Order: sequence, then structure tokens, then C-alpha cells
Amino acid sequence: MHPSRRAPRGETWRLPVNTRAHLPPGQEAESALPAALDEWRAAIGGAHVRTDPALLDQLGTATYPTDQRVAAAIYPGDRQQVRACLRIATRHKVPLYPVSTGKNWGYGSAAPVVDGCVVMPLSRMNRILDYDEEFAYVTVEPGVTQLQLHNYLIDRGARLFAGFTGSTPSASLIGNVLERGLGSGPYNDRFSHVCGFEVILATGEILHTGFTRYPGAVTGELHRWGVGPWLDGIFTQSNLGVVTRMTLWLTPMPGYVARFAFSVGESRSALDNTLNALRQLSLSGVLGSGFLFFNDLRILTTQQRYPWAEAGGRVPLPADLRRELRRRRGLGAWNGRGTIHAVDARHGAELRRIVTESLGPHVERLTFGEDDQLSQGNTSSPSVLDWCAPSESQLLMAYWRIRENEPADAETESGVGPGAGAGAGAGISHHSAPMDLDRDGCGLIWSCPVLPLNGRHVRVVVDTVERVTRSHGFEANIGLHASGERTAVATVILAYDRSVEGEDDRAMACYDVLEQQFSDLGYPPYRMSTRAMRSSLHANDDMSAVLRRLKNALDPAGILAPGRYVL
Ligand SMILES: Cc1cc2nc3c(=O)[nH]c(=O)nc-3n(C[C@H](O)[C@H](O)[C@H](O)COP(=O)(O)OP(=O)(O)OC[C@H]3O[C@@H](n4cnc5c(N)ncnc54)[C@H](O)[C@@H]3O)c2cc1C
Repeated sequence: MHPSRRAPRGETWRLPVNTRAHLPPGQEAESALPAALDEWRAAIGGAHVRTDPALLDQLGTATYPTDQRVAAAIYPGDRQQVRACLRIATRHKVPLYPVSTGKNWGYGSAAPVVDGCVVMPLSRMNRILDYDEEFAYVTVEPGVTQLQLHNYLIDRGARLFAGFTGSTPSASLIGNVLERGLGSGPYNDRFSHVCGFEVILATGEILHTGFTRYPGAVTGELHRWGVGPWLDGIFTQSNLGVVTRMTLWLTPMPGYVARFAFSVGESRSALDNTLNALRQLSLSGVLGSGFLFFNDLRILTTQQRYPWAEAGGRVPLPADLRRELRRRRGLGAWNGRGTIHAVDARHGAELRRIVTESLGPHVERLTFGEDDQLSQGNTSSPSVLDWCAPSESQLLMAYWRIRENEPADAETESGVGPGAGAGAGAGISHHSAPMDLDRDGCGLIWSCPVLPLNGRHVRVVVDTVERVTRSHGFEANIGLHASGERTAVATVILAYDRSVEGEDDRAMACYDVLEQQFSDLGYPPYRMSTRAMRSSLHANDDMSAVLRRLKNALDPAGILAPGRYVL
């Protein structure tokens, strides 16, 4: 690490957490609210301006404790209405918190960072505005969900797929990109494969990024940069504008695909060698669609509930029982999976040989599964749909410690074990009603440090998680996701039952220690929860002041999502 990037001696990277975040000075939300509500009703219709306490309570509820009250909710139906809503908010200095579908589970759901905001879900804006098979893209509004796009592509018999995330099928595409979320497939770094943002500022000004700002330009949906400064990035993980439109690039169906899975034992050298091999495969482009590397608990929690009876009611999971469950499920201490995308079977066989030679000596049970239907280009085959469909299977991990309100088929095969399919779509679960983590009292918060992809760093993070979670009464539930060719994002989950007295407090104490330790160790997060946004990362430059000036210029009344990403 470059010495100047280290925290100064005696200082930590992260400054302390505020117990409660307040609006910036000058915002008189409560007194200004009635007049703003009247104007919003006139602008978008009374039915779309809501103040019913049950709804506001729901919007302020996340998968961890929140004390922010939601003042109202407004649901604009198109860009002109968004613009009108923003202008009204600016005029009255009422803080507005836009969300796409508000399923930011584990990072804050739809709940604003600070108290007293009006939440503005964009779920009514759910049109797919443009689709081009030849150039493989789709242009969407913020309310378009993963499932909606999937069905749209299926209906058209498209030979294109979107690399969906492991979150709910009813999560948005745009909200996820704006968090710089991780999907699956070759475009798993989602923000790197989008362009043509339409952004409305708090002032009501409208920006179109890249070439979409030039009337008649025919490459607006095909080229990211445009000419001159490139602004798309400043509207991600920020609070500088409301994104009302975006183009997402889609991945052409490969001529050949082979999913592979493997497991790794507890030996340090096996872990180091496997991670080195995965890095080399990523750097050389063989694993262009990334990989997932899960510890035993990450998989167990999607396959079963906490074994309360066997554990004699004790938490965290005793080490011997953990080993026994691992044995029963045929899992390794670590379990990897990836997908080979190739032009044709011959190309695929060659890539498969390279993967086998690289990983084979270090891992156990390396298995490949080929999808013949896909190889034949039969996109109507159910197996192809499974391969790329959004799914609820990963959500089961949020119910791990829940004893009541369990989804009906809790034992649904999650498809994440060795030999199972890769990608978010593996193992579709079937529930009569979609899972809703906020509604069901699931406790869940993510801590997601970014680390260099090698054994030494992974072991530091894993040892930290094992130690900190155990001492707070939780399980070390860890996934590693390739993030580019050189780094991995460790997705650490604290999953608990919010209805158990004291559990919220214990989980937050554990989370704060994890975040602090990752920062101290030099592993900043890839994305922040609203709780983490209440503290700030120590930095060695003038960026914070510059960002503050940018915020003041683009949002002079400071009404847009105050506190989001500490801005
Ligand atoms: C079990 C589980 C698995 C998950 N798997 C993944 C995964 O694989 N990859 C991943 O990335 N995430 C994952 N998540 C996290 C999360 O659920 C997803 O990222 C989800 O897509 C975010 O919710 P959303 O799309 O509704 O975004 P929203 O909640 O609507 O948006 C997120 C934030 O972005 C801002 N925002 C949203 N829309 C706009 C807009 N139009 N203009 C300006 N600002 C806006 C808001 O501040 C909002 O709070 C997972 C969560 C769980 C519980």
C-alpha cells in the first residue's frame, strides 16, 4: 500500500457513528411540509401523495434498527412529475429521499439516512423504453424490476440475458446500478455496463449523459463516455440527482456455457493456492464472468434454518455442529463456482482444460455441468431460463435464525452447493407471496470490504470475521465475489431474528466492530449501509470539501437524500 494512503498514526480510518442523524441546519421540514404536500398533490394527484402511518412506518423499516421517521411518501409517475416534485421540495426546503424499488435489503431498505425525509419511490415509472437485439441493450425507467426485464426478454425469445443479482426478483435495475451493485455473468460489475443516464437535479435541471445529450446522435445507447467530462459516476453512491432513465447493456447468450463448482478444505495452503489460481484465471480472461467463493455457512444458511434443537438453543453455531452440518450437506469449508462462456464447444473445451489444470491440483470435487439446450441455442428451454432467471433462493439466508413467519418451503434447494448451477438464477424457489425481509422481521446487515485477491488478505478478513462474529454471538457468513480481475468483495452477512430481545443491539455492536476493523486493516467497503453512512471514512485529501461544494452547486437547498454516502 502506498504510505500516504495509510491512516495517520494514531488515527483510524473511520470516525465514530452518530447515534442519530439529523437534517442539515436550515431545513424546516416539519413546518414546511403541509404546504409542500398541497403542491405535490396538485402536481401528481392526491392518490400518489401518502401520509398514512402504516405506510410511512413500513418505508422507515429496514432489516436492522432505524430511528428515522418518514414524513410522507410521494409517487411521481413520469419525469415531468419527478421534476415538479424536486422543485417543490427545493422551494420548501423539504428533504426528499428517492428510491427505485426500495429493496436495498441489508443496506437500509427504503429508509432514509436521516430523520424527517419524504420518501419518493419511483416504482410507478416502470416502463421499458427501448430494446435493441442487434446492439444488445435495453433502456429502462427506475421502477423496472429484475423479473420484469427477465420476462420481457423471454417473451421476445431474446438471445440476450441480463446478469441479475442474488437479490429479490422485485428489486430494480437502476437502484442496484446506482449502488454499484454486483450482478452475475460477464457484466457482473453492473455500473461498468450502463450508459445514457437521464438525471434530474434538485433544481429541476435535466441532464443526459454521454452522447444521449446530442439530438440525433445515434450512439447514445452504445458508448459510455460522450465527449468532455464524464459525469455518470457522480450520480452513483451519492445524492446529487435523481436518475429517471438508463441504458443497460445485455449479454449475448454464449454459444457454449459450462458451469463448474468445487470445494476447498480447511488447509491454508489449499485456500491460498485456489485464490491465486482464480486470480490468474481472471487476469488472463478465462473467467471473464467472475466467480463466487462461499464459506460453508453462506451455503448452509440458504439450505436450512438454524438447527435450534441440535444446538440445544445455543448461539452461535457450535464448531462441531457446523462441521457435522457441512459433512451432511457435502460442503467444503469453502465452495466455489464459476461459469465458462465460450463461442462454441471447441472453444469451451479448451477453456475447461485450462480451468481444470489451474484449479484441479488445489481443490476437491471439481465438477462441470454443461447445458446442452443452451449449446444448441434453444432459448425456450426451461433449463436456459433457470440459468439466467432472477430468483429468491439467496434470500433464504435472511431467514436463517427466524423461527416464525417462515416462507412455506424453507428447505428449497438453493442450488449453491458443489455441482449446482452458477449465477443468481440457480434453483428457483416457488412461494405464493414474494419474500419480504422488512415485513418478516429478518435481521440482516452487510459488511463488504474490498480486498486484494490473494490468500493472505482473504485470511486476514476471514479471521477477523470469525473472531468478531463469534464473540458477539453470530455466525461468520462470508462470500467472496470477484470484482474486476484483481480484487474481491467480501460480502459478510449478520443474519438474525429482530424479534429476539437485545438481538438488534448485539448485531449493531458486532457490525460496528467489523466495519471499524476492516477500515483499520485497510479494507474500505465497496458500498455502505445507511448505518455506516453516519460515520465517515478518514481520508488524506480535499475530496470531502470538493464534494461538499459540488453538492451545494447541484442541490443548493440540500434537499436530496441528506446524509447519503456522508454527503
Ligand atoms: C439475500 C440478499 C442477496 C442480495 N444480493 C445482491 C447481489 O447479488 N448484488 C447486489 O448488488 N445486491 C444484492 N443485495 C442487496 C440489494 O437487495 C440489491 O442491491 C437491490 O437491488 C437494491 O434494491 P433496489 O434495487 O430496490 O434499490 P433501491 O433501494 O431502490 O435503491 C438503492 C439506493 O439507491 C438510491 N437510488 C435508488 N434509485 C435512485 C434513483 N433513481 N435516483 C437517485 N438515487 C436512487 C437510493 O438512495 C436508494 O436507497 C442482496 C440483498 C439480499 C438480502
